[in-house]
Amino acid sequence: MVKAEDVLRTIREKNIEMIDVHIIDLPGTWQHVTIPVSEVDEDTFTNGIPFDGSSLRGFRGIEESDMLMIPDPDTAVVDPFATVPTLSLVADVTDPQHVPYQRDPRRIARNAEEYLKASGIADVSYWGPEIEFFIFDSVRYINQGYHAAYQVDSSEGFWNSFAEGSLGHTIRTKEGYFPVPPLDSTAALRTAMVKALQSVGIRVEMHHHEVATAGQGEIDLRFNTLTKQADTVMMYKYVLRNVAQQHGKTVTFMPKPIYGDNGNGMHVHQSLWKDSKPLFYSENGYAHMSPLALSYIAGILKHARAILAFSNPSTNSYRRLVPGFEAPVNIVFSHGNRSAAIRIPVNDRPQASRIEFRTPDSTSNPYLAFAAMLMAGLDGIRQGLDPVKEGFGPLDKNIYALSKAELANIQSVPGSLSESLDALEQDHAFLLEGGVFSEDLIQTWIDYKRVNEVNAVNLRPHPMEFELYFNS
Ligand code: GLU
Ligand code: MG
Ligand code: MG
Repeated sequence: MVKAEDVLRTIREKNIEMIDVHIIDLPGTWQHVTIPVSEVDEDTFTNGIPFDGSSLRGFRGIEESDMLMIPDPDTAVVDPFATVPTLSLVADVTDPQHVPYQRDPRRIARNAEEYLKASGIADVSYWGPEIEFFIFDSVRYINQGYHAAYQVDSSEGFWNSFAEGSLGHTIRTKEGYFPVPPLDSTAALRTAMVKALQSVGIRVEMHHHEVATAGQGEIDLRFNTLTKQADTVMMYKYVLRNVAQQHGKTVTFMPKPIYGDNGNGMHVHQSLWKDSKPLFYSENGYAHMSPLALSYIAGILKHARAILAFSNPSTNSYRRLVPGFEAPVNIVFSHGNRSAAIRIPVNDRPQASRIEFRTPDSTSNPYLAFAAMLMAGLDGIRQGLDPVKEGFGPLDKNIYALSKAELANIQSVPGSLSESLDALEQDHAFLLEGGVFSEDLIQTWIDYKRVNEVNAVNLRPHPMEFELYFNS
């Protein structure tokens, strides 16, 4: 555990000039203040740094806007992008009396971890998100992101490149996984991203081009505990965006930037451990899963429609969850099947036993999304649910190829953000257990998303509507 005095020592030893303190707003983006080190001492870490909570998305009303950031010494790393030596920190949010703020996403994540320990079921959970993204330069972004998204037919990357005058070295649609350079034209940029991630202490397992045609990539993180991994996701996005910016590119984690090609997921691998032993493994269970793991799976699938309000919380999320693009569409589990919402990776090592929830994407707030999944899984364990009896499979077939009759008894993921928010409104008692989420946070989330995102998109004429209706 790093303490304030350790951070102050690092500031001296590394000749740090600024500290940059981050908090997470409700939708899940970093906000920051920068403070010269001449103003930083022990008090910064105990008394905190005042800020205006009313100006942040999803936070307080103007009449109760005074809040504090309390920097967490454990998160201190040197910012690789700052123009002067700067130490980056993540802070917790409290009110002026130092009471933790119940809409601080980091607070919810910590609540969930404390709740897990108190439950006696496990003492730690591990999280391994697989974050996918597209690298665009501005011209590409406009051509392929905007126009392709709205054209009637899919953008055939290969044929488009003929039109643009480039004859070779272009990945065909859905063949991006994973030829070598020069087809993989963003390999060097991904390596630069990995080095920057390593420089801030993030452990990377590998990087590769992803399936979609134009610069889709994935950089895989080593698993970590819940709050720490959510902190890492925030830093990951910051690092990727800034490395891209340094190279004149942009990065998007948007779930479906290009019509007709694969989207960006954030599959989340997860497991529970107790007394340093993995709880998800059994020698003889289906896919080597223990009864506890199967109940965890059942809990996630049972509450999946509500969880999606946190794990797939954008209107664009639902353009990705359609058949044919390796994104899940049905609420089932399966061994090694990428068309199911939960895949159990083929594995026979107890310490690697885990489940992969494939639905989430990176428009989620990772603190809330991870906490919601954990709470759903724990609810499944508490109730001793069996995913087979609940009708969630296992379904070891290509779900995209099933007939209507075969799909008759299989639940689908919600078709829109609006449906997920309705599901969350009806099904959230499992999140309130132990005071992990508050009713206030859930209602604020639902209202925020309905007004600012669902309505904002629905009320505007869509470019495709001009194609369909202009001459009708
Ligand atoms: N890009 C796919 C998705 O939207 C996933 C591809 C993969 O299996 O990694 O979930
Ligand atoms: Mg992938
Ligand atoms: Mg995966």
